[in-house]
Amino acid sequence: MSKINNTFMDEDKINDLICNKSASQEKINEILDKALSARGLTIEESAILLNIEDDETLEKLFKTAKIIKEKIYGKRIVLFAPLYAANVCTNNCVYCAFRCDNKSIERRVLTPAEVVEEAKAVMRMGHKRIILLTGEDYHATGLDYLEEIMERIYKTKELNGEIRRINLNIAPLSVDDFKRLNTFGIGTYQLFQETYKKETYKEVHPTGKKSNYEWRLEAMDRAIEAGINDLGIGPLFGLTDYKFETLATLMHAEHMDKVCGVGPHTISVPRIEPAEGVDFAPTQMSDKEFKKIVAIIRLAVPYTGLVLSTRETPQMRREIMELGISQISAASETNPGGYAVHKEATKQFESGDMRSLQEMVVELCENGFLPSFCTSCYRVGRVGKKFMEHAKSGHIHQYCQPNALSTFKEYIEDYGSEEVKAIGEKAIAKHLAEIKDEKMKNIAEKQIQAIKDGKRDLHV
Ligand code: SAM
Ligand code: SF4
Repeated sequence: MSKINNTFMDEDKINDLICNKSASQEKINEILDKALSARGLTIEESAILLNIEDDETLEKLFKTAKIIKEKIYGKRIVLFAPLYAANVCTNNCVYCAFRCDNKSIERRVLTPAEVVEEAKAVMRMGHKRIILLTGEDYHATGLDYLEEIMERIYKTKELNGEIRRINLNIAPLSVDDFKRLNTFGIGTYQLFQETYKKETYKEVHPTGKKSNYEWRLEAMDRAIEAGINDLGIGPLFGLTDYKFETLATLMHAEHMDKVCGVGPHTISVPRIEPAEGVDFAPTQMSDKEFKKIVAIIRLAVPYTGLVLSTRETPQMRREIMELGISQISAASETNPGGYAVHKEATKQFESGDMRSLQEMVVELCENGFLPSFCTSCYRVGRVGKKFMEHAKSGHIHQYCQPNALSTFKEYIEDYGSEEVKAIGEKAIAKHLAEIKDEKMKNIAEKQIQAIKDGKRDLHV
């Protein structure tokens, strides 16, 4: 029987929880202690943490999030880049430059050959993982188009590298279409609800297929029914109250867990950015509130990856990384053709962080992180429930740490300047020395040596 459902979103419950500010300091401490066991939090517990306002308790929250982040993800940060294939769109989202009423932009669907040129430009930076995006136009960028461009990207080699994982952020599909999409070799299927508040949703998505709130809210259930393993969700912060959106996102995650026994693979935390031809004024959220959200999501769903894009400034990215982020985009262009073939094309929104991948890698190393270009899990079938079992038992480190080290070694060998090589080698030596498990260390050392000897794309 179909489990597709859109009744799990309980707006009244969320509003009640936000209004209840009566939790004692003891209760907050109890929740933070529970969070330290990495068992996750209930919606009620997350709501109590969202109502923390004083700096001292916020610091405790951040400290707890840092501990959990390090326990589960170590120092690894996975890197990726977006690739926009088209900006044609039949919707009218008031915050987006690609909305169909924005007549000031030139519309474009990249040809498959142009997509390959874009992918090559991304590969030349050293990226191994992309997220492919389009506007919503089932005719111009339908499944035949996606199948062709994905196949061509996967077949393309540039220098010593290739794209090894293509995640997707495209408009929601029917179960049958999701089933077909699932045969294209997709990594994560990601879709943002934008806002979970139905009334606001209707206001900001006035026309087009996307104006149907339920169709979007049910999309993950349809993807689950179609057999897609790794799913990514998120709100678009700035459309309504951040507390509401955070709890609603966690409610969505809880629902997915109930439906298929595994919650979302990732949660993204995008904030609205200025965009050409857009005069929408977002609901304000301070940087402190943003940090609070990231920390709470980290504690509430410890095994769900947290994705941060270049919408944020370098300073914000620096501060937020250690609170729970596991994946970041770097050196991103948000226009179709932006890397190589149509650099002048209108961007979907402005990036807050324009640094190159090399600059990003250097900063990560200097701040004690280990940049990872790993794409192993989905290629060896460690996806969905299997992935979560490995993650929850802690076994995932056995794979992630050696893979992070060897893919980073590959990056510095093939793309690193002399500076990156020097900084990168130092970082690899440090992270290797910190591995306590002898078996894991052995695997990592062997993989690093093999990369040095000219082997590529090693993973366990
Ligand atoms: N068109 C499809 C859709 O809307 O689901 C898929 C991809 S769309 C290109 C990716 C995401 O960009 C949207 O889900 C939205 O959250 C985000 N976005 C749109 N305008 C934005 C803006 N001004 N600032 C930040 N993010 C924005
Ligand atoms: Fe189109 Fe997506 Fe932009 Fe909305 S957010 S206008 S659906 S590209």
